[in-house]
Parts: sequence; structure tokens; C-alpha cells
Amino acid sequence: MAAPQESVVHGSKANPKDLPSTDKLLRHCAPLLAEHGHTLVAAEARHLLDALRLRVLAGQASAAQLALEPLAQQLAQRVQQRLSPRMRAVINLTGTVIHTNLGRALLADAALQPLLQLMASPNNLEYDLGSGGRGDRDDVVEGLLCELTGAEAATVVNNNAAAVLLGIAALARGREVIVSRGELVEIGGAFRMPDVMASAGAVMVEVGTTNRTHARDYEQAINERTALLMKVHTSNYQVQGFTAAVQEAELAAIAHARGLPLMSDLGSGALVDLSQWGLPAEPLPQQMLAAGCDVVSFSGDKLLGGPQAGLIVGRLDVIQKIRKFPMKRALRMSKLPMAVLEATLRLYLRPEKLTETLPTLRLLTRPLAVIEAQARSLQPLVHAAVAPRYAVVTAAMQGQIGSGSLPVARLPSAGLVIAPQGGRNLGSALDKLSRALRELPEPVIGRIADDKLWLDLRCLEDSAHLSRQLPALQEALA
Ligand SMILES: *Cc1c(COP(=O)(O)O)cnc(C)c1O
Repeated sequence: MAAPQESVVHGSKANPKDLPSTDKLLRHCAPLLAEHGHTLVAAEARHLLDALRLRVLAGQASAAQLALEPLAQQLAQRVQQRLSPRMRAVINLTGTVIHTNLGRALLADAALQPLLQLMASPNNLEYDLGSGGRGDRDDVVEGLLCELTGAEAATVVNNNAAAVLLGIAALARGREVIVSRGELVEIGGAFRMPDVMASAGAVMVEVGTTNRTHARDYEQAINERTALLMKVHTSNYQVQGFTAAVQEAELAAIAHARGLPLMSDLGSGALVDLSQWGLPAEPLPQQMLAAGCDVVSFSGDKLLGGPQAGLIVGRLDVIQKIRKFPMKRALRMSKLPMAVLEATLRLYLRPEKLTETLPTLRLLTRPLAVIEAQARSLQPLVHAAVAPRYAVVTAAMQGQIGSGSLPVARLPSAGLVIAPQGGRNLGSALDKLSRALRELPEPVIGRIADDKLWLDLRCLEDSAHLSRQLPALQEALA
């Protein structure tokens, strides 16, 4: 939207005495008052008139701007704006499929459709329809999680950060947890393993070095204060070169020989082997359990493709201990994500259909040729909307899975590169373009690099989402 040209006053200047009062404006807006009530409409009327008064006093308003009809229209617009949600759908053309800033996994249709009715009525979240007695909300998903991962038991909390915190607190509060120096990860949003250990009340014992940790490092650190051995999946970085880590199976043997449990924070964790679609393999919770881990935690909204959730699977006695720990009550999941999680997990009962039913996998497996063809067909349309100030070309791109999943893997993709023309002020032309895209009815989020704006089309399943907004883009840039 262009900035209003405040200094130019058309027609005669407004006289402050002619400003309508709030009451007078409101009397002119009966239908608006009837629809929304007095509180909101009157507050917005006062704000509107306050702003107008300042402009009148500064000699920046015309007499025509004090007429009731245009003011009533502006008031209706302001009320509408106040009532429209701040959280909106955007179009993710960043090339990162699971983008934390853009809400991570897109939820499956099958998970969303039943929600409206389910959330607006009472449900059996903690009610056992068989016995008529109290149930446990974990029951909603525990059976599915056990079936999908081979675990004896499972529980869920609000996110994986909570799952890790709870697991460590329940199993090792006041005692020592042994972890490799190569696995002291920091995830975005101030989740750092040493701080999590401290918050959980455990004493972290680091062993090995940044690049190499051996079985004997763990063995030598174990003493009578040790409560837990911990493996952390280094989900958002990779150490290369002269490296060594102790794999879960070997570490489980070391832990179990001393009667200690082994916990694995898997980060993303996928429930199906991604390499069957040519994607890089991500460790599976079922593999970790089979290797001997006693408890494994992972996220619901990363590769799993569901709602924000922390899933904890493992041995029955260990899960029981976690479930009974008081902090669990503070971290328990609400019915809304629980319903979405259940429906998402049920999609995994038909693994052959996942690339259709689960949006995350659908996007990750979109064929490159389809994305390239989409780029070719959109190029002339986008070019027409931004020319002559900008040029648009199709280009090969390297996307990523995102959210700390498979950090070094790149997803071959395709899209449009928009470059400002003319040598001067490239930066401000680029800013203007990215702002215009963000201010579209469906905001478009791209990526700026090399003085150009990159729009990766992997996550644009329906070209119309972009093309129908091109007239608005053209207008904004004019
Ligand atoms: C993402 C991640 C977490 C945090 O999970 P959230 O679901 O975002 O809370 C913890 N540990 C690892 C290794 C992760 O990759």
C-alpha cells in the first residue's frame, strides 16, 4: 500500500470546528453498532477521530474528509481490521519445507476435517467408553504409537523440548546424566542440552570430545550417582572428518550392564524410512528401540507431519515413571493437538498412501519435473506483474527439509528468481518487492540472496494461490 501523501490537501482546508463528535459519527453508523456492539465500534471511532483531529490541526486535511459518509466507511474498515486474526495463512516459497517460523508441518486434511465437530462437543478424551469410568488421555494415541514403533508403552506432552525435560527430570533428577561432548546441541529458541539438564535438576557429565567419544569414556564416567545415559541426535549440524561416536546398541549394552537406562532424544524422528522415496534417511524411533534404547523422544510437527507434540516411547516401567512424575501434568497435551495427532498417526496405518495423505511427505516427494514445469508456466505471468522494474527467470534451486531435520541434505528444486533492473538502489528495490509480496492478501514469503529474490516453488502445490494475486502485486509495485 502506498503511503498517503499527507502534505497534499485537495479542496479547501478542514476547519477543526467541523470535526464530527464521536456520538455524531456513531449515530451515522447504526448497522455497524448493531453488528458489533458499542464497545469496539466506539473505541475505534475515537481512535479514528483522534487521528483525524491531529491532521486537521496540522492543516493536512480537507473539508471533504470530515464528511460523515467517508468517515463511516473508514470506521467499518478499522473494525474489520481489528477483528481479523493476526495469525494468517502465508505462502511458503522459502524452499524450506518444515519451516519453524512458518508453523512447521502442514496438517493433513484427514486430521483437520473432524476437528470442528469434535472440538465443539464433549468427547472421550479421558473417559473410557467401555467401562464408563475415567480413562487416561494417553490412551488416545498410546496403542498407535506402540504399534508403529514397537514400543511397550508411550506417552505424549506438548513438544519434544518438554519430552526431553520431563524424561531427564523423571529419570535423573538430583543425579548424574552422561552425555557425549559431541552431542550438546542447541536447537533454536534457547533449547540447549546443558541448560535443559540443569532445568531438569540433573547433573550433566560430559564425556569424550567434540569430534570423538568412545565406549570407554562412558564406562569410566559411570559411578553410583549415575542415573541415565543420554544420546542426542545432532539434528541441525554435522561434524565431519576424524570422528567417532558410540552407537545406541553398544551404549545400551554398557548402560544395561550397570542397570542404567539409555534415553535417546531423536529430534525429528521419522516413522517411515524416507530413503524409499530417494530422500536422505533419518533415524527412526523403532530402530532406536530395537537397538536397546529404553526411552526415545521425538517431535510431532517435524518429519512426522503432525501437530506440535513431544512423543515419548519406550519400556513400560520407564514410561510409567515418566507418566507418574508430577511435571507431566504441567506439560500434558490438550484435546486439540491430541485429536490431530491421533488422526495423523492413523495415516501411518496405510504407509503406501502417505505421499498423498500427509502434506509433509507430499511436498518432500513432489517430482522435480513437476516443479520445473510449474516454474516455466508461472514465469511469464510473474514477469508481466513486476516488469519493467524487475526481471524474472526460472532457475534450479536447492531447498531443504528444515526444522533441524537432515541439516546438510539439500532438496533439488526449482523456482523463480526476481532481480531488480537498473544499477542503482538494488537493495531498496528488493526490499520494496519483498514487502509487496508480504503484504499480499495471501502473503508470499521468499528468500533474498545475491541481490535477488528467490521463490522456490516446492511448497506451492496450487499455482493459483500465487497467480490470482499478481494483479495486486502489480498494483503495489506501480
Ligand atoms: C527439534 C529438536 C528438539 C525440540 O523439539 P520441539 O518439538 O521443537 O520442542 C529437541 N531435540 C532435538 C535434537 C531436536 O532436533
